[in-house]
Amino acid sequence: MADELLASAQKEVATMTHKPCLAIILVGDDPASLVYTKKKHDACARVGILSKNIRLPAIASEKEIIVQVEALNRDKSVDAILVQLPLPPEVDEDNVLERVSAEKDVDGFQPANFGKLALGTGNIYPCTPHGVIYMLKKSGVMLSGKHAVVIGRSRIVGKPLALLLLNENCTVTVCHSKTKNMADITRTADIICVAVGRPKTLTADMVKQGAVVIDIGTSKVDEKLTGDVDFEKVKEKASLITPVPGGVGPMTIAMLIQNTLACHKARHANKG
Ligand code: NAP
Repeated sequence: MADELLASAQKEVATMTHKPCLAIILVGDDPASLVYTKKKHDACARVGILSKNIRLPAIASEKEIIVQVEALNRDKSVDAILVQLPLPPEVDEDNVLERVSAEKDVDGFQPANFGKLALGTGNIYPCTPHGVIYMLKKSGVMLSGKHAVVIGRSRIVGKPLALLLLNENCTVTVCHSKTKNMADITRTADIICVAVGRPKTLTADMVKQGAVVIDIGTSKVDEKLTGDVDFEKVKEKASLITPVPGGVGPMTIAMLIQNTLACHKARHANKG
């Protein structure tokens, strides 16, 4: 699915005289963030989107990061801005993300865009949850009326995913670190999406026969990328299940490219 989306984006970009441009701000040199931003720049290159790589040292202050964000807001050649998270612990992520102009907010984390997501009126949705909804629909999963359980409630995954599922008329339950008797809840779910970052958060005894399971988590176990789901055992019960690696990760990148195109089109449409 991710490859199909990238191929169709490539075709669309080939017809554009002014190529879309995504700017990525990376603060510090966290190894995982370096890998993720490289994948994002590579995807841009693959489809013909221009990308700018703005690197700041790990000691950069909140003010210095905001100065960069505001320069990109003003830069007419930039359609979309992504601030790679996490930012260093002493920087308030909310303060930085709020400064990204709503029209260039490719991740959909800016409060105005997050509000529109909650209202179901937006056109830019956070890439990972957007990719999950796309996968479910494309796989023919009927969402309306289904009980969807989301484990995790972060700004970038759990919360927006719960809202998107609600917008699709699912009955949504959100679980988190303070949830009691989580297995009793997940056992009633038709769809389970796990975004925690802890291997084996979802085990086979927590899943009802035929459920759809989406594994968003990633952690390293013995240098191997591992999801949150006990894949080998859960796959025996699930009707559909995503692997890690090779599931939600590539979809996130594909949706970032879709969102960049959407920002580009909206900006140029606004110019008439
Ligand atoms: P996060 O901000 O750390 O949030 C983790 C969530 O899990 C929190 O809401 C936390 O609850 C909840 N949680 C922690 N322990 C739990 C437990 N024992 N039972 C139930 N819930 C628990 O992480 P995130 O940014 O959402 O990312 C989650 C995972 O997805 C990470 O592994 C990340 O690497 C991965 N991810 C993958 C992609 C991709 O493209 N594949 C994209 C983004 C993220 P509290 O709120 O109560 O603390």
